[in-house]
Amino acid sequence: MTDFAFPSKKVLIIGSGIGGLSAGIILVKLGFQVTIIEKNRQPGGMMRSYKRNGIECNVGVHYLGSLDKGQMLDRLFDFLGVTGQIPIKRMGTGGVIDRYYMDSDLLPTGMFDMPEGLDAYEQNLYQAFPRERKQITAIVKNLHSATRKINSLEFLFSGQNDFEILEHANPMGELMTQWNCSPGLRAVLGVPAAWIGVPLSACPSFYHNMVLASYLLSSWRLKCSGSQMADVFADRLKSLGGRIITDDAVAKILVTDRIATGVRLRSGQELKAPLIIGALHPKIILGMLPENAVKPSYRKRIARLEDTHGICGVHVAVNADEHPELDHNLFKIHTHPDGNIADMIFYQMRKSEKKEKNLLSILFDVPAEPWEKWSGTRTGCRGRDYNDAKIREAEKRIKGAQSLFGPLENYQILDIFTPLSIRDWVSSPDGTAYGVQRSHRQILSAALLNRTAVKGLFLAGQSVLAPGILGAILGSLVTIKFIIGPQWFKKAFSDLQIG
Ligand SMILES: Cc1cc2nc3c(=O)[nH]c(=O)nc-3n(C[C@H](O)[C@H](O)[C@H](O)COP(=O)(O)OP(=O)(O)OC[C@H]3O[C@@H](n4cnc5c(N)ncnc54)[C@H](O)[C@@H]3O)c2cc1C
Repeated sequence: MTDFAFPSKKVLIIGSGIGGLSAGIILVKLGFQVTIIEKNRQPGGMMRSYKRNGIECNVGVHYLGSLDKGQMLDRLFDFLGVTGQIPIKRMGTGGVIDRYYMDSDLLPTGMFDMPEGLDAYEQNLYQAFPRERKQITAIVKNLHSATRKINSLEFLFSGQNDFEILEHANPMGELMTQWNCSPGLRAVLGVPAAWIGVPLSACPSFYHNMVLASYLLSSWRLKCSGSQMADVFADRLKSLGGRIITDDAVAKILVTDRIATGVRLRSGQELKAPLIIGALHPKIILGMLPENAVKPSYRKRIARLEDTHGICGVHVAVNADEHPELDHNLFKIHTHPDGNIADMIFYQMRKSEKKEKNLLSILFDVPAEPWEKWSGTRTGCRGRDYNDAKIREAEKRIKGAQSLFGPLENYQILDIFTPLSIRDWVSSPDGTAYGVQRSHRQILSAALLNRTAVKGLFLAGQSVLAPGILGAILGSLVTIKFIIGPQWFKKAFSDLQIG
């Protein structure tokens, strides 16, 4: 990448989540002059954790896939220059990465273990569903082929549509119906799709396989906090010469004749640049554009995009002697009789900054209604009844956790976040956790979101390609491919491709 440069071309990036920071690092390495603008006091967006009673509580990083030497995220971290600075710990050394508990009789043992490795996964599926060898063979064959494609990152370099979108748009749930899979098998395969906020019946097989494969290849937990991870990315950008302006939101994107020219900040300051990247939800970027900057059809397409649901999180300090760290995650899953997932709760028990306390994190989807009556209020100003409602919800979830962890005595609730907290923290519409939903229905309307109808304005972040740390970094690469063109992209990034 050294013989390649775009000297002194200025770029402004709105938002310093993993999408904005990764795009910034790559562009600064290409020779662009990068300035990131972040509304919060500290960079990192959802990647950043927060401290309660001396304990770091993570928001948007609970585990990461494909970080073993040479695997996809490891190569991307290497490329971004952050490997080694983000301490990580391998999960699943005891043979389990994720343990699923089903509340129905769809699984004979009521439980399924997702291990590390595709072969081990296949064996566990055979064991749990001995009568479905044919179906499992077909599922795993597809998974192998998706893994090869994803790991090689060939989709970034091929001249075809990114992700060969149309070929792999068939929902995984539909394929499983065609293959006559049992509700139990459907429930197990539904978990990775539900984790990215898409029901299996609507989840394009490519997205399903990408998420599942990325965690099966190897799964890792941070040995540091989300805040430290965010600081590593922010420091890397600054060490290369990039700049981050914090505590000042972008209020308006300046556009003349449908060409982006700069941004106006909340403070009134104006920054000019011929290139702007909105690394946050496309609907929020749309709201920053002057009324006549885009055609009504573009406005309508973005405004109509369906988002993923909101998530609530409860962080609880528990006695470390009674509740040791688990090196795998637990999922409690409530299914419909047809095996489709109705409700899923994620649990993680890990060490905390305090020796005598471990941190139990519980994440669960919530319908919007219970929190709607506070939607007109801002974080910190919602009053006592909101706090009481949060505590009631937390107590209910902690009680539910006891069926997995045994009696939880002397616990201390550290914090509870709701979709409203996420909405206010990172400006995600209605607190959507994973942004635009990658469902088959939206395969066309959500395709190529990286480009906009305004010249010089591009998008990045979890909504443009796929959610998660990996998905957002890949999304940044696709955006940069649009900016510099496929020829230059191939030249600049060929080291990333393998196979
Ligand atoms: C509860 C939860 C658990 C998750 N768990 C995992 C996990 O275990 N593993 C995983 O890989 N992924 C996980 N994710 C997903 C992952 O965290 C996200 O996909 C990713 O962090 C999104 O990054 P982003 O850059 O797209 O967006 P964000 O992190 O939301 O960044 C957007 C940034 O823009 C800023 N901003 C907003 N408005 C303005 C403005 N007007 N001006 C300037 N700045 C602005 C925001 O403050 C924010 O910093 C989880 C997400 C959630 C919600």
